[in-house]
Amino acid sequence: MKLPVSNTNAPVWRDITVKSQLPAALKSLEKLSRNLWWVWNSEAKNLFRDLDHDIWRATGENPVMLLQQLPSERLDEIMSDKEMMARIDHVWKMFQDYMAQPMRNDIPSVSYFSMEYGLCNCLKIYSGGLGVLAGDYIKEASDSRVNMTAIGFLYRYGYFTQTLSVDGQQIANYEPQNFNQLPIEQVTEENGHPMILEVPYHDRIIYSHIWRVNVGRMSLYLLDTDFDMNSEFDRPITHKLYGGDWENRIKQEYLLGIGGILALKKLGIHSEIYHANEGHAALLNLQRLADYVQEKGLDFNTALELVRSSALYTVHTPVPAGHDYFDEGLAHKYLQQYPALLGISWQELMDMGRENPGSNDRFSMSVFALNTCQEANGVSWLHGEVSKKMFAGVWKGYSWEESHVGYVTNGVHMPTWAASEWKAFYSEKLGEQVFDHQSDPKAWENIFKVKDEEIWAMRTQLKNKFINFVRRDFKEKWLANQGDPSAVIKILEKINPNALIIGFARRFATYKRAHLLFTDLDRLARIVNNEQFPVQFVFSGKAHPADGAGQGLIKRIMEVSHMPQFQGKIIFLEDYNMIVAKRLVTGVDIWLNTPTRPLEASGTSGEKAEMNGVLNFSVLDGWWYEGYKLDEKAGWALTEKRTFTDQAQQDKLDAATIYSMLENEIIPLYFAKNSKGYSPEWIQYIKRSIGHIAPQYTMQRMIEDYISRFYSPEAKRFAALSADNDKLAKEIAAWKQKVASAWDGIKVLDVHTKEDIHQHNTTGQPFTTVIKIDTNGLADDLGLELVIDKMENNTEKRWIKIPFQVIAKEGNIVTYEVTDKLRDPGVFRYSFRLYPTNPNLPHRQDFAYVRWI
Ligand SMILES: *Cc1c(COP(=O)(O)O)cnc(C)c1O
Repeated sequence: MKLPVSNTNAPVWRDITVKSQLPAALKSLEKLSRNLWWVWNSEAKNLFRDLDHDIWRATGENPVMLLQQLPSERLDEIMSDKEMMARIDHVWKMFQDYMAQPMRNDIPSVSYFSMEYGLCNCLKIYSGGLGVLAGDYIKEASDSRVNMTAIGFLYRYGYFTQTLSVDGQQIANYEPQNFNQLPIEQVTEENGHPMILEVPYHDRIIYSHIWRVNVGRMSLYLLDTDFDMNSEFDRPITHKLYGGDWENRIKQEYLLGIGGILALKKLGIHSEIYHANEGHAALLNLQRLADYVQEKGLDFNTALELVRSSALYTVHTPVPAGHDYFDEGLAHKYLQQYPALLGISWQELMDMGRENPGSNDRFSMSVFALNTCQEANGVSWLHGEVSKKMFAGVWKGYSWEESHVGYVTNGVHMPTWAASEWKAFYSEKLGEQVFDHQSDPKAWENIFKVKDEEIWAMRTQLKNKFINFVRRDFKEKWLANQGDPSAVIKILEKINPNALIIGFARRFATYKRAHLLFTDLDRLARIVNNEQFPVQFVFSGKAHPADGAGQGLIKRIMEVSHMPQFQGKIIFLEDYNMIVAKRLVTGVDIWLNTPTRPLEASGTSGEKAEMNGVLNFSVLDGWWYEGYKLDEKAGWALTEKRTFTDQAQQDKLDAATIYSMLENEIIPLYFAKNSKGYSPEWIQYIKRSIGHIAPQYTMQRMIEDYISRFYSPEAKRFAALSADNDKLAKEIAAWKQKVASAWDGIKVLDVHTKEDIHQHNTTGQPFTTVIKIDTNGLADDLGLELVIDKMENNTEKRWIKIPFQVIAKEGNIVTYEVTDKLRDPGVFRYSFRLYPTNPNLPHRQDFAYVRWI
């Protein structure tokens, strides 16, 4: 017999992580590392950095890993460094003072649900703007002392990191996170064992670990299914952000909404308001409904009154295609157990997620959110309008202008996004009050008294810091991925602090039109190669791995950047993340944004730029539609008028506008330098953008808007509904029931317009209409109005509504009358609208029964 040449099995490796044993004197560092407060407190952040610059950078600014990796010689060194020890002491005291401040008790408590949170670079549970917004929001809740609890996922792989091949192909790398090295804590039972959350799915239990992220005074709880109690089929639920197929997506959204509510219950946390950040989390209301029915024994309709009045849905997507829809089969597979828990039919549950109840529409998470949340909002004024139109089909009796959907314009967390240099500058020149009263323009007024030189010095300092960052952090990456070392060195040498540097960084979705600038390469080459007035462009951003077109854009930019005329003039920074973002928004001169209107729901990176003296040049879309109008001498805008319906034509026109604005306005303004080396007019633009625009786009303003527009009014109404054993909620539910049963039996007996307005149709002519209705038992429950629509093309004129008065009532028969006069000349149409009315409803869309007469 032939003997095998070898007989061996695979090594049986056993993991062991050896961590530095921190001496007692440094224990406070460990506590500091477990609370993300350091992210937005520069003294704390710089303290960690100064413990060891190289490790800090190598760990991606992760203080937990840093402390685990500090060699013992370095620890000894730190302990014998008096100054360092004093700094540690000082930061620790600051932290304790911060944590000791009490919550405000005049604001409702809130549970906030989001698929992603961008809190810091080292916690890879975000992909882009939505996540960074949610992360900023939790930080601000902490600063503003709002009692908020947040729910999300701890992803094993998070979102991908990006590398680029020599020819510009995006390579997506999914690196598993080692949870022991993250600034998080596992939630345990009293006996020290990990807490296990049981989430009942239709045919099995899925188990989840719960991790807590301390965000200042707030807790963010993260669910995680990637452990051995779950099958191979279920462990990946929390593997990737926006990865996997539709089935994985519904499993994720089930876990977020339903698991999230169950987690809060297990943790003993009750909130007054439930806020779904995007439709992904909407199933939270399904579980809340089930709890009211099962635990309090309420009927479904009463439960719905209570759930709705304490729920808010924020939509971030301006196009229907961006929302989640599930086929009925898939929805049924996962939600089939709920009708029985709620006491309704499957059809009724499915219809709660349909724009057209009774149709074959797929189950829309957005529609379900709208049906289970009393209030909903878009994320900028313009996006609020777009959302009203987008959702108009849900309330068919009302025009989109009448929709209750509101808006809160997104903001950014100033202590996170203002450079530490600017923060120190603001406290010195404007006083600490600027942080406490961020949205008060008065707090910023003194910026106009600051010497121009000082502003310029700040800008120069941060620009150099940015350039050093590029030279240091990108040299190695470029050498590794982009071939020819001498070309890389040349590029690095060409980055010029005296050039006007224009930044463009965001997700590479096609609507953001990153390619716009490359429409006319000859013209662009002339702009960047002007020896006297040098200009450079820096790009950065990831494309979703499934978005081929977005990846094509990156490839195109890489190609252009390799052309001899653009070498070192157009550069692309790999792996856009929060560290790169911060360097960019603090270090360039201009922040460029060129979305197709109105697809940028808000956008926030430009807001980060504002508070760093970086000027915006953007399409009038999202937040800039409002921001630019605050002061048109504080930035630049591409016209809002869409001239072409053909997108390619529009792109060409917009590109030409960008070139000529650069050539004729922006570049000359920047280089109109005086003998001191700066352009006084440019500084004026900076001061105006800081003084007039920045104050309106901070997270502090945003959270105050959410409180005053939604949280407080809803909490007040919920309190009224739930008082006295849910008395009012039951009454409203019963009243709606009454109206619903009688509705189809309402009969219009007579409609009579006294004057013939077709004969006497000149302006000022009065006309009176009398309508007689058999109200079928609803004599006191109906409103009737005259609705006038001025028919003009392309104008968004709102309908004119004039209420009828009741002039006679005999039992069920009610006679209504209205008198109006013909107002302006033009073509009009009019109709009469009958609707149920009850002073206890928050708005008409709450019970959108309508009969047109
Ligand atoms: C701020 C930020 C975003 C959002 O930028 P938009 O202007 O909304 O596209 C995306 N990614 C990162 C890393 C950010 O810091």
